[in-house]
Formats: sequence, structure tokens, C-alpha cells
Amino acid sequence: MVSRLEQICIDKGLKMTDQRRVIARVLSEADDHPDVEAVYRRATVVDPKISIATVYRTVRLFEEANILERHDFGDGRARYEERPADHHDHLIDVQSGRVVEFQNAAIEELQHRVAQELGYKLVGHRLELYAVPIAGSERKPG
Ligand SMILES: [Zn+2]
Repeated sequence: MVSRLEQICIDKGLKMTDQRRVIARVLSEADDHPDVEAVYRRATVVDPKISIATVYRTVRLFEEANILERHDFGDGRARYEERPADHHDHLIDVQSGRVVEFQNAAIEELQHRVAQELGYKLVGHRLELYAVPIAGSERKPG
């Protein structure tokens, strides 16, 4: 079966080799914003002959074709996700590195208003929240 990301590649006219297909599938199935190393590890489970250089090249190709979105969540490592159909922002747990996706209508609206007040029409934004978990047991009752 063709993965969703592979189908997008085909629709965009990218030449799909077997290795690109594997990498596309790995990215299509990921829901955790993997970096290149993580994509490489998962891809080599399917095809041990895939090299890290190929993963780098392919990820860059997909990014340039606007198929992937690249993020920098503050640890200096580029992370990737399939360009989402619906816009979302990210909260990064700085203790565990977990990335939580969220949508907030009030924030979206506010950003449009800020741009407008500065004389601009907003066409995009990036928002990352860096946070630590609130430990329930540490909160004082009442
Ligand atoms: Zn995301």
C-alpha cells in the first residue's frame, strides 16, 4: 500500500525510489516529530541498506518540495513532520522532550490582530511553548 506521504510525493512528481518510499512511510507513520537520526533508525528496520546520508538527502528533498515541515524545538536538532492539513502549534516539555500539539482559537485570533495593528496581514506564524509539567502532587490542596 502507498503511504499518504508517498502519494503526495507522487502527486508532486518526485521520482520515488524504494529507499525514498521507505523513508516516506516512516515519516507518514510518525506522530512524534522525529529528527533525522530517529527517521534513520526506523528506516533501517525496514531496509538495513539505507544510509544516514540518504535519509538526510531525502528529508531535505521532501522539505524543499513542501511535503515536510521542519521544526527547531530548542535543542538544536531539526525535527520533521508531514505538513499538516490543519494548522497546529507545539508545546515542548523541556524535561522529557515530549512535543504536544494544540490549537487555540484565541491565540490565532490574537496573532491576526497584532499583525493588523502593525499594518500587516498575517500569512503565517510559528509558536512554540516551552514548559515543564505541573506535578499534581506538589500542588497544595484548596
Ligand atoms: Zn506538529
